Amino acid sequence: MHKKLFIPGPVEVNPAVLEKMATPLIGHRTKDATALQQGISEKMQKVMATKNTIVLSTSSGSGLMEGAVRCFTKKRAAVFSIGAFGKRWYKMCTANGIPADIFESELGQITTPEMIEEALSTGKYDLITITQNETSTGIHNPMARLAEVYKKYPDVIVCVDTVSSMAGDFVPVDELGIDVCITSTQKCLGVPPGMAIAAVSDRAIEKAKTIENRGLYFDYVELVKFVKEKPYQYPSTPSLSHMFALDYQLDRILEEGLENRYARHKRLAAKVQEWAKTHGGLYSDPENLSVTVTCINNTTGHPFSDINKAMGEKGWLISNGYGDLKDKTFRVAHMADTTDEEMDALLKDLDEVLASL
Ligand SMILES: *Cc1c(COP(=O)(O)O)cnc(C)c1O
Repeated sequence: MHKKLFIPGPVEVNPAVLEKMATPLIGHRTKDATALQQGISEKMQKVMATKNTIVLSTSSGSGLMEGAVRCFTKKRAAVFSIGAFGKRWYKMCTANGIPADIFESELGQITTPEMIEEALSTGKYDLITITQNETSTGIHNPMARLAEVYKKYPDVIVCVDTVSSMAGDFVPVDELGIDVCITSTQKCLGVPPGMAIAAVSDRAIEKAKTIENRGLYFDYVELVKFVKEKPYQYPSTPSLSHMFALDYQLDRILEEGLENRYARHKRLAAKVQEWAKTHGGLYSDPENLSVTVTCINNTTGHPFSDINKAMGEKGWLISNGYGDLKDKTFRVAHMADTTDEEMDALLKDLDEVLASL
């Protein structure tokens, strides 16, 4: 039996979208491939509320994250971490020999405007990374408040991880002054894993051109050059199969309407948060809860593996905690194309499972 995925990626993919992965292939240097990539770019610009260049990468989101710290850091990176995925940016810096400092919030808490001010006012940093939605703890950062601070430092390149939120949570890239905004296909976009997408500002690219050792496969200068000059091409052979699926799914997303999509994510999040309040409680700061994934304290007295096994028998897969929170919490994702009916059914079954254990 297929278990419906309510883990924070990969997510359940609509059958019609899955089918698009089986579209007969086309040559990647053809006009058809150009048209396909252009279509995706224009639709992604709507989803990301940006005029910046959209680059695709045949990799998961981590590839473009690693490429970003390499391409855009000249002096030193300030990594603002609110959990596992913030730490990942830091590891990417150190693994590539990029000078970096990490500014960690307590787990379950946000990055504060004060933390950004304190770091940037030193003048030491020319790149910052922010996790807009932290999947390990189920919180999202107050981006508008953070933007008020980093916008005062126009020489700093702002990189934001929206891997588990873009197309589920409203992140207006241009309004927030984000230079490099990164996401992956397998979370809120509702497409199989294997492709990453970033919106990149011209000023970031101009800066990157002055930086050596940007790497090759994830070199944003090259990725943008192929979009702007070829145009709408990819430096190597992209996963055209993902592109067919993504293009089609973006039509579905825009057909639903972004406002409706954001409202649905909020509604689903509220259902799970309500459930959590009477079942162990929410792990994270209630003021800043994610609209795409909820992290719940496991006070059931049962190891999570038992809960998920019983849930599996009912056809669902939810997620354990991440990293240090593996056994203390569990997570329910409510992202991409999940419906109200599915969410209600899942929570009902979760109640049944807990009563039966
Ligand atoms: C999943 C996730 C990543 C990693 O993305 P991949 O596409 O798996 O490389 C990074 N950041 C966040 C917040 C995530 O949820």
